[in-house]
Amino acid sequence: MMTTTWRHLPRYLVMRRGAFSSSACMGAVNFVPASRSIDPSDLERLRAFVSRARRLFVITGAGLSTESGIPDYRSEGVGLYARTDRRPMQHVEFLRSAKARQRYWARNYMGWPQFSSYRPNSAHLSLREWEAQEKVHWLVTQNVDALHFKAGHQRFTELHGCTHRVVCLGCGVLTVREDLQKRFTEMNPAWAVEAGAVAPDGDVFLEDEQVLNFRVPSCQNCGGILKPEVTFFGDSVSRSTVQFVHDRLAESDAMLVAGSSLQVYSAYRFLLAANESKIPVAILNIGPTRADHMAELRVSARCGEVLPVIQPC
Ligand SMILES: [Zn+2]
Repeated sequence: MMTTTWRHLPRYLVMRRGAFSSSACMGAVNFVPASRSIDPSDLERLRAFVSRARRLFVITGAGLSTESGIPDYRSEGVGLYARTDRRPMQHVEFLRSAKARQRYWARNYMGWPQFSSYRPNSAHLSLREWEAQEKVHWLVTQNVDALHFKAGHQRFTELHGCTHRVVCLGCGVLTVREDLQKRFTEMNPAWAVEAGAVAPDGDVFLEDEQVLNFRVPSCQNCGGILKPEVTFFGDSVSRSTVQFVHDRLAESDAMLVAGSSLQVYSAYRFLLAANESKIPVAILNIGPTRADHMAELRVSARCGEVLPVIQPC
């Protein structure tokens, strides 16, 4: 089950609360799009919205993690699409091409030390707090960065999987990405690990000729192809996961979208379902979203600026 597969992960991945700050990981590059100063009445309306909810359903996206220093693909001006001409891995290309897999894993190997070190920010911690208060019924994230897990969140679904897990395409066994890092290092002793510019999926930039000699391990169980347990572009979320999330939504009485423009259908479909079931929707995101017309409340601001100060009852 994709929803709670974290159990097999080592406990060191569970970080202690209080060790994080929303700005500690921000490097020289700012990945958070500019936002206007927040209207206090917006804050009050959002506080009232969340306070009214008894079983809040939350959808989070890249906008939540940019404040931890992780760039997203779509943010205006600062997203990866805006800053570079690189595009994320396509599912079919990964399946069909050993060269594409070699290139992907070589970059992913180089980026892993940095990507795996990101920490949850005050927005993740606030949502975790709301879960502890039984305000949040279920959380669905489009992010593959494990930051909700690191924040200690428990009742959540990673809609697009997580880069901290690896799946074998032959036998389906799931393993921990950190263990694969050790195998990469053993098989590629000449590769010095230098972190480059890290993309949202843990990818970095390497020249093609650098990649040619990179050795990629296969499944220790069956010799099959290893793939990060994430939904690449062009792939779709499993039916059972989608149904599971629909069921959690049906048990909820309000929806909050935090840090997503909802451009990807895999998350947008839950807005359609909420709309159909007359579940009220609030959206907290910098810039417009695909579902603005469905929301009774729209707040354009940083999640880390807003969620910690709302304090719903
Ligand atoms: Zn296998």
